[in-house]
Amino acid sequence: MDYDFLRQHIGHEIVIVCYGGENEDPENIAIECETCSTVIADVHKDEHYEKHGLECPSCLNESEYMIEKDDDGKKVYHCLECDYECSMFN
Ligand SMILES: [Zn+2]
Ligand SMILES: [Zn+2]
Repeated sequence: MDYDFLRQHIGHEIVIVCYGGENEDPENIAIECETCSTVIADVHKDEHYEKHGLECPSCLNESEYMIEKDDDGKKVYHCLECDYECSMFN
């Protein structure tokens, strides 16, 4: 998600939708643009993805990261491009 991406959706119908079984916490919650049927952002219940716009130290992509907590409650970032694992963005 970046400036130009969001800019395309100015004035559009933005909705928050969820996916999953009835009467349970939704598995997935997404911000979607109804006007152009695009997912703006989504978050899975047990996973947390984040795009930092930061360069991965391993593959040098501006990757998206899956974020988990380790035993000490520290965030661990997994680069989705190369699986590199780091905690440097804390
Ligand atoms: Zn749109
Ligand atoms: Zn990487």
